[in-house]
Amino acid sequence: MAQTVQTAYDRALPDATPREHELIERADGLGHTLLARNATAVDEGILSARDNLEALADAGLAGIRVPRRYGGAEVDRAVYLRVLEGLSYGDGTTPFIIAQHYGTSAMVAGSPNEEARARVLPAMARGASLCGFGVSHIRRQGRPMLTATPQGDGYRLDGAIPWMTGEGLFSHVVIGGTLPDGGTLLSWARFAPSDGLRIEPPMELVAMNGARTVAATCAGLEIRPEDVLAVEPAGRRARANTTAVPCLYGLARASIDDLQGLAARRDAPALAEGARGLRVRLDEQRQGFYPRLQQFEEGPTETPLAEARAAATSLALDAIGALIVATGGGANARAHPAQRRLREASVFATWGLSVEATNLAVARFAGKG
Ligand SMILES: Cc1cc2nc3c(=O)[nH]c(=O)nc-3n(C[C@H](O)[C@H](O)[C@H](O)COP(=O)(O)OP(=O)(O)OC[C@H]3O[C@@H](n4cnc5c(N)ncnc54)[C@H](O)[C@@H]3O)c2cc1C
Repeated sequence: MAQTVQTAYDRALPDATPREHELIERADGLGHTLLARNATAVDEGILSARDNLEALADAGLAGIRVPRRYGGAEVDRAVYLRVLEGLSYGDGTTPFIIAQHYGTSAMVAGSPNEEARARVLPAMARGASLCGFGVSHIRRQGRPMLTATPQGDGYRLDGAIPWMTGEGLFSHVVIGGTLPDGGTLLSWARFAPSDGLRIEPPMELVAMNGARTVAATCAGLEIRPEDVLAVEPAGRRARANTTAVPCLYGLARASIDDLQGLAARRDAPALAEGARGLRVRLDEQRQGFYPRLQQFEEGPTETPLAEARAAATSLALDAIGALIVATGGGANARAHPAQRRLREASVFATWGLSVEATNLAVARFAGKG
């Protein structure tokens, strides 16, 4: 199999420090070895993703979004996204899980609640405690799904959390609830059933079953004042996430490498040409993605991010599709990597989605993007 490891020579991240390049190299190494080896078994639920997560923690990759003063590596945002790209080369489930921990690390680190930061972040930095979140319902339009009502010095949560990844893998979660004035409460809670929190059994999905995603219901879940992380104005979390994009790049790169390997084994120049064309698209997209993260996340409109997501979704599906067709009938084997990547791409394409990102992706599929 032809493999392209990007690592220290990645031109898309010219500003990364030597330490950050080292972390990227470790992620690429795990993506090419352990994660790729375990991918089918994790995908089929035969093997828990826990082994992969422990390897990530051992490699110092659990705490990369935790500030240094709490023991984390506090890397630049381009670097943690690049780490996810490297992991996604091997399988989709592991980066999908650890990305939730990274998101939670950033939410806690950004909290004005100093006591909560000091209590929670050191264990998150070591990977001794992995944590997730249930916030995507905040982006939904219409009536709030989960309300946060002031109660004494704290709050109570009532309603539904439609998605929460990491049951049995994460110790805690950040839950987002809608306040009476339309703002968002971010609160810290144990990821375990309690009087106020009912957790459904893990969903049976086409992919990422190793991530153990559940729905949950809050019925008067009490949030103590010390577990209030933040109160945010309405609309702050309306944008699609950037995280899905590098994960789609990782799936694309693995498929392009496999296509190139197939072309070499068959001595098939047309397939090699196809792999080359896809790689040019991947390189162009990456060069336009990593340096523009601030614009994507903080610029005046969501459109550039929505375009990058739509382009990455098309690229991943094209690369996987090319590999399937080039492989032929054998690509229909249940355990063929292209089949797994196709299913994983469907999760990444819909993960952290917004209305604008949905609209642009559909327009692109329709040939108008
Ligand atoms: C395997 C898996 C695990 C997940 N884990 C988590 C997790 O741990 N934590 C978490 O917070 N979230 C999680 N999610 C949720 C994920 O981020 C959401 O799927 C995503 O944000 C889209 O939200 P939705 O499916 O709830 O959208 P819905 O509200 O059901 O809407 C469906 C789609 O329609 C679009 N839409 C709505 N109105 C319009 C309109 N007027 N015009 C055009 N498009 C429109 C939406 O943008 C969306 O794409 C997970 C999802 C999956 C698949």
